[in-house]
Amino acid sequence: MPKRPRTPIDAYFEGGYWLILWDFLYGGVILLLVLGLGWSAGMRNVAERLTRVKPLQTMVYWIEFTILTTVLGFPLAVYEGYFREHQYGLATQTFGPWMFDQFKALLVSVIAGAIVVSLLFGIVRRLPRTWWIWGSLATVLLLSFGALIAPVYLVPIFNKVTRLDDPKVTVPILRMARANGIPVKDVFEIDASKQSTRMSANVSGLGSTMRITLNDNLLRRGSAEEIQAVMGHEMGHYVLNHVYKGILEFLVIIVVWFAGLQWSLEWALRRWGQKWKIRGIGDTGVLPLVFLVTSLFFFVLTPVMNTLTRTQEYEADMYGLNASRLPDGFAQAAIHLGEYRKMSPGPVEEWIFYDHPSGHNRIFAAMQWKAENLSLFAAPRAGTPAMAAPAPPPRR
Ligand SMILES: [Zn+2]
Repeated sequence: MPKRPRTPIDAYFEGGYWLILWDFLYGGVILLLVLGLGWSAGMRNVAERLTRVKPLQTMVYWIEFTILTTVLGFPLAVYEGYFREHQYGLATQTFGPWMFDQFKALLVSVIAGAIVVSLLFGIVRRLPRTWWIWGSLATVLLLSFGALIAPVYLVPIFNKVTRLDDPKVTVPILRMARANGIPVKDVFEIDASKQSTRMSANVSGLGSTMRITLNDNLLRRGSAEEIQAVMGHEMGHYVLNHVYKGILEFLVIIVVWFAGLQWSLEWALRRWGQKWKIRGIGDTGVLPLVFLVTSLFFFVLTPVMNTLTRTQEYEADMYGLNASRLPDGFAQAAIHLGEYRKMSPGPVEEWIFYDHPSGHNRIFAAMQWKAENLSLFAAPRAGTPAMAAPAPPPRR
């Protein structure tokens, strides 16, 4: 295959690989400074002076820690989230509204993190030997709770979510949903164009809050068959229980992570605990070390996490092709996603860095499906019931 010239989006996407490394190193240096300069012990002392109640001490420490690390991490965050996105024409926000979003995100992590961290430290202090087992379970429960409330309480903090009421869009989507046994009455729209030019859709929530949301970029710029093909993919996530399977996979990873934490925290504190003035694993001042070990763990696990996600995405792709029977629409979507993802990576590159199949592989799968299933579009013979109502012919 002749080598394609490198497009600006290839450069953008490959820059993202390097950012994984720079984020890890930059964050690591900040955390080591916070520990090594004794700031962590200092913030803990402030918290202990303010209150005697342990959970409150943890909360106060968390607020100090989050604000300090957000300020120190700001230069890289503003390059990554603002200037770089504008440089490649993917962002739509001016600096003021972007900063306001950042401020809201900080507030959410201060509040949610304070609750989570004080709960987990409570478990560590009460069960110093087995905390990593109970902590893993608690973490998964908290994450599930977060997923449950996210579409209803978290997403609306940043964006407007509305029920889609254009029957031209909703009627074919709901018909496909019913044909696939999905009991939804509504499809949601989010005004993602407020922040970005990216087209996308997703399944979010858990149990009763589970829903399919399309973003307005997709609705505005996608063709009817493209939107329908993307919905087929999202329904695949839904029917194949990807949210629940993802939580179970994550439980396994969390148990390994926490067991590794237990060991590495004890090891590091034996060596440097006195120097850092950290008293033990139950001391909230240990938190920068927890984040340091965690970021190393997930940095190394990048290909594993991406492969877990990419495998689900591939399953949803194939489900979507079978459900929508719109390979051309699906290929159009893959081309549109090429506006922010490199289309044709090498196989190792895809394995390490891609959380979705590459555009190249998605289009290939769609065209192969089309070539091998043309007979599905012929009128059904008597006695062979159709699996699902065929989608309407594309109108363009
Ligand atoms: Zn997906």
